Amino acid sequence: MTAWHNQSTTELENLLATDTEKGISDQEAAIRLTQYGPNKLRKGKRFSALTIFMAQFKSLIIWVLIGAAVISTALGETVDGIAIIAIVILNAIIGFVQEYRAEKAAAALAHLAAPHCRVIRDGHSAVVAATEIAPGDILLLEGGDLVAADARLIESSVLHVNEAPLTGESQAVDKLTDTLPLETPLAEQQNMVFLGTSVTNGSGRAIVVNTGMETQLGRIAKLLETAESGETPLQRKLDKAGHFLLWACLGIVTLIFSLGWLRGIAPFELFLSTVSLAVAAIPEGLPAVVTIALALGVQRMVLRNALVRHMAAVETLGCAEVICTDKTGTLTMGEMTARKLITADSRYRITGEGYATEGVFITGNTERVPSEDPQLFALLRAAAACNDAELAFVNDRPIVVGDTTEGALLVAAAKANITRQAIETEMPRLATLPFDSERKRMTIIRKQEEQPWAFVKGALEVILSRCTLIRTEQGVKPLSEADRTRLLDANKLLAEEALRVLAIAERPLTNPGFEKGTAVSDNEIEKELIFLGLIGLQDPPRAEAKEAVAKCKRAGIKAVMITGDHPDTARAIGYELGILGKGDEILVGNELDRLDEEALRARIARVSVYARVTAEHKLRIVRAWKGRGKVVAMTGDGVNDAPAIKEASIGIAMGLTGTEVTKEAADIIITDDNFASIVAAVEEGRGIYDNIAKTLAYLLGSSAGELIVMLIAILLGWPLPLLPLYLLWINLVTDGFAALALSTDPIDRGVLNRPPRSSQAPLISRDLIKMTLFTGSLTASVTLGVFAYELYLMGSSLEQARDAAFTVLVIAGLLRAFGARSEQRTVWEISLFSNLRLFLVVAAGFALQLAIHHISVFQALFKIEPITLAQCAGWFAAGFIPLIVLELRKVIRYRSASIGSK
Ligand code: ATP
Repeated sequence: MTAWHNQSTTELENLLATDTEKGISDQEAAIRLTQYGPNKLRKGKRFSALTIFMAQFKSLIIWVLIGAAVISTALGETVDGIAIIAIVILNAIIGFVQEYRAEKAAAALAHLAAPHCRVIRDGHSAVVAATEIAPGDILLLEGGDLVAADARLIESSVLHVNEAPLTGESQAVDKLTDTLPLETPLAEQQNMVFLGTSVTNGSGRAIVVNTGMETQLGRIAKLLETAESGETPLQRKLDKAGHFLLWACLGIVTLIFSLGWLRGIAPFELFLSTVSLAVAAIPEGLPAVVTIALALGVQRMVLRNALVRHMAAVETLGCAEVICTDKTGTLTMGEMTARKLITADSRYRITGEGYATEGVFITGNTERVPSEDPQLFALLRAAAACNDAELAFVNDRPIVVGDTTEGALLVAAAKANITRQAIETEMPRLATLPFDSERKRMTIIRKQEEQPWAFVKGALEVILSRCTLIRTEQGVKPLSEADRTRLLDANKLLAEEALRVLAIAERPLTNPGFEKGTAVSDNEIEKELIFLGLIGLQDPPRAEAKEAVAKCKRAGIKAVMITGDHPDTARAIGYELGILGKGDEILVGNELDRLDEEALRARIARVSVYARVTAEHKLRIVRAWKGRGKVVAMTGDGVNDAPAIKEASIGIAMGLTGTEVTKEAADIIITDDNFASIVAAVEEGRGIYDNIAKTLAYLLGSSAGELIVMLIAILLGWPLPLLPLYLLWINLVTDGFAALALSTDPIDRGVLNRPPRSSQAPLISRDLIKMTLFTGSLTASVTLGVFAYELYLMGSSLEQARDAAFTVLVIAGLLRAFGARSEQRTVWEISLFSNLRLFLVVAAGFALQLAIHHISVFQALFKIEPITLAQCAGWFAAGFIPLIVLELRKVIRYRSASIGSK
């Protein structure tokens, strides 16, 4: 095994046939990928089609049925035997199709959420899927990136990496490029970065040496080779419920068998009937139906800009009670425009739209030419000098590359003909003290006519406390207390107009020997500054955010805004969006610092807006909500947001602005960074759960119906109304196809008009049991009624009476699927065609039921005869009864609710 840490850069280039400047080409990467395989860890084996098919036969009850079929054949009942086997196979095929689809959908999703990384290919930097990198690729790393493979560093500028996933050490490790001695242990290989670790800050460049299972993490994975079950809590709950149902059904079936035995029914006929009954009554297709409902729902979410990384989040989404969201870019457009400027002596309005660089500066009613206004010019020049963004043009439309706040400052400077390119040539950069939401300021040091100058910008209170001078029309003067008060007032006025305010300052450094590479300390540099002015940036709220906030209110979800901005800016936006209402409070970061856990927990329900907060505050907010037992969703984009996102019940990362680390920590990624997409995801989450719940209720209703029919008939001493084959057929038509169509029902319009579901609620609730018994008894009464009517009143043969009971049960089951679509809304309130699949399944079910009566092979198999029109009408009418009664029950129970949600 090569000791990569011990090689020099040239040796590495040779060994890996690459170039540290140009990297490898795309073609070469493709060749290497076929050689080394994709860069991913093997995760639990996916199931092959054959295993899925074979798994359909693993249930004991199926084997009992197969055994019964064999015995039937041996006893001369060949037709029965073959028919049962045919149905068993058909059932297995349906089960297979359901599970195979579920498996495929789940695999497709895993692919969608794959992380990306930056590499150099053919001399250009490119963003590629992490799975597509190969040894020899040059990785570009920066704060917030996940390291996509094991790689050897060739450049490092204050690069710090968190290696906790590999070493358990949570302190970030300093990374260097020096060649290290051969015996250096893994944990001390400072010139290497490893797959699965993350960059906390700084930047670097590294040559990929190992990918996929060959990486250090891959080795560990190989050792463990444990497959994550990937089951969601709901699936686990269902599993449990499934076991309960299995035993409950078996209990009832055994009871029926014993009673039948006592009544002297022929043992073999009884045995076959009860085994078939067990097959029909046990909702064995439920787990697959749930997976499909989840997987297809998650695919629908992708179309609404929400990418689910953990299936479990879908269920939690449906229970969300609080959504804490960032402001900039999520609630607002994130496209900033500088609107107002304030210097020591004047106030300016800036005209122009968006990022277009046309616009003028106006004071009062007069236009000011920046080149003739030294104060204005100095302010704009410093804003452009303390800047990392760039303006670019795509199809002649200006766009901002980098931070939008800084982009807006560049646009304003461009309106005064100041460009960053000119600044870079006239005043080369010597050092940077980067912005972060903790410091709330940023400095760039540049060389101006042989003198180092610091250009500083940030939140007003932070900058002002570091200023001692102010630039006025009469030149630079000491900053008085009166100036401070005036500026704070001006800041407040701008903030109240919902503008994000930045203060700009500069300072000639007293250290003339300052050169590139000189160590900088912020306290040394960011002091005794000359205040230049304020810039107010407009970032309008997203039109759809207001509607989304209103939806949250209706849905019983509290929307909370969290921002690093000034409280007045936050308040203005909060009011505009409806997040801040009567009785709601704003909490500012430093006030929050003074509250202990308990005080925060007591206060949190009233707070709708947090201002001037940092990532650590977010963590406290999440914990406080959770401490109150609430299901809380939290958004984030920066590396520092990752802990809060991980801690939240639902962690949401921003797809456009989020770092890879944040995305990795998240359960859901919002691909367009839009708050409305979060609410859409909640809606889908509720919808998916509803679909699962209604399918469960539907299946249980059918099972109860079948069991009650058989039980009552035996208790009354009647002949068995349903032949084994009938039961298996019902299982196929109603439980198989109709349930599948139900589980993918379109979302009910009213899902957001009711409060969140409790995350503690049991799956099989008391209400569900009551409803199951009611539906079951209703269907059973109609079926038994028809059976008795034919047999005892009309004098029909037993075969005819059984056929009537069978057909009525099928019709009733199929029709009931329409009613099962909503717990509250009636069939006439929901369009029949809005779930076309269900409509077709039901239509096909009717057609099949008719067909078996008129095709001679089936007539013999099912022991039935052609039906007349009159019979058809009568059975249809009877089959309609359960649906009608159930719908009338809805009208009576939910009349007001159903009117409300229309
Ligand atoms: P939100 O939560 O609404 O997205 P935020 O958390 O992104 O906002 P920050 O980026 O932390 O807010 O900004 C906080 C304050 O820091 C701003 O009000 C502004 O005064 C200042 N600020 C923002 N961006 C920069 C920057 N690039 N350089 C200097 N100061 C900045």
